[in-house]
Amino acid sequence: MFDRSRRNLAHWFALSMGGILFAFAGVGYCLSVEEQLRVFDDELFSQSKVFAAKTQYSLYQSQWRNQRSKTPIENGASLNGDLIYARWYNSDKQLLQYIGSLGNNQLTAEPGFQTLQLPLGAEYLIRTWVRQVTIPIFEDKRLIGYFQAAVAMNSLRVNLNQARLFLTFGVPVTFGVIGITGWFLGGLAMRPSLRAYQQLQQFTADASHELRTPVATILSNAQVALIPPEDLLEQKLRLQNIAQTAKSMSTLINDLLFLSRHNGSLAETGLKPVDLCEILRSLAQDFAALAPAQSLNFNAHLPERPIMLKADANLLKQAVINLLTNAFKYTPADGKVELHLFTQSHYAVIQVKDNGIGIPSTDLPHIFERFYRVDTVRSRQTGGFGLGLAIAQQIVQRYGGQITVNSMLSQGSTFQISLPLKL
Ligand code: ADP
Repeated sequence: MFDRSRRNLAHWFALSMGGILFAFAGVGYCLSVEEQLRVFDDELFSQSKVFAAKTQYSLYQSQWRNQRSKTPIENGASLNGDLIYARWYNSDKQLLQYIGSLGNNQLTAEPGFQTLQLPLGAEYLIRTWVRQVTIPIFEDKRLIGYFQAAVAMNSLRVNLNQARLFLTFGVPVTFGVIGITGWFLGGLAMRPSLRAYQQLQQFTADASHELRTPVATILSNAQVALIPPEDLLEQKLRLQNIAQTAKSMSTLINDLLFLSRHNGSLAETGLKPVDLCEILRSLAQDFAALAPAQSLNFNAHLPERPIMLKADANLLKQAVINLLTNAFKYTPADGKVELHLFTQSHYAVIQVKDNGIGIPSTDLPHIFERFYRVDTVRSRQTGGFGLGLAIAQQIVQRYGGQITVNSMLSQGSTFQISLPLKL
């Protein structure tokens, strides 16, 4: 699926960029032809004018003036090496003099430039492209004749051939480069979607896996409980098992719903200024009440003055509850759990410290991943699904905060939440 999307992206990118490239190359070539022809014409025109001026006087003075004669112009002036012919016509458009090839006795061309293909060379077998200019000549605002010259377009054609050769090879190569770039860009563009898709797939697989075990437990217990009881106590035990497993499934489903509902950034509406001290104080009271049952020593170190920030109190509470629950779960009897709150520059810092079993350094980078459990055996005993820290991180990140951990195996862990103090 992703390969096909990538191919499509590359395909459309190459087509659109290729289209633009071809359009630019075409327009560029046309403009270049136009520009080179203009320069060529300018040069031809200015040289023709000089040539015409040099020959005009002798012509005007000559005995053949206004007479039909085809004597070659004797003046030695030339246009350039590519000159094919130069012709003088009188005001009646009759040929007077010429050099180069003869042509018609009557001027047929209109004043201006023309491109012609003339049979030249040995036995007129070779046809050559020439540019011809016809200039009316005035003296005292009176038309005295026409000057016509033609030069071979060899240099212009060489330039244009070079440009065409460059385009013939350059455009396909560039098109190929565009195609390869499109393929790489397609890959880059698809990467976030691919990652999100893989995460979703993983999440779905993990969630199904987590739900499969309790469903199987419920099913087997229910099947046994359905058999006419020989021992009522056994049946009661089975039903209790079903109730307990269903309860843990409900916790898992709630966690999953929480993760999917509270994804993305927080909407500013719905946030209220809350006193973090007050939130943590009520939490500390709850956990202090639980501590003796687990023979834990729990202490909260909270400042007297309020620490205000704009937040959803229930979400923040949930993040801290998850950290405290873990500290209680993973700290053996007679251990110590502490809750700290203080401010550091523009952040409110919440710390949950314990001297429990700690986390191996190899697991530390993964513990915030969904469904990640350091040790499935120890987590199963404590009933965790590996979602508590993922939920805490999701909440904290939604506030633009950070959650970090420091832990040493067998020595304890410190989880720290830093929240920006903005109101
Ligand atoms: P769980 O529901 O399994 O506790 P969490 O996401 O809350 O899932 O935690 C992920 C893993 O990190 C747990 O399986 C546990 O091994 C480890 N962990 C979390 N907090 C602590 C802690 N305070 N002490 C030791 N290990 C911890």
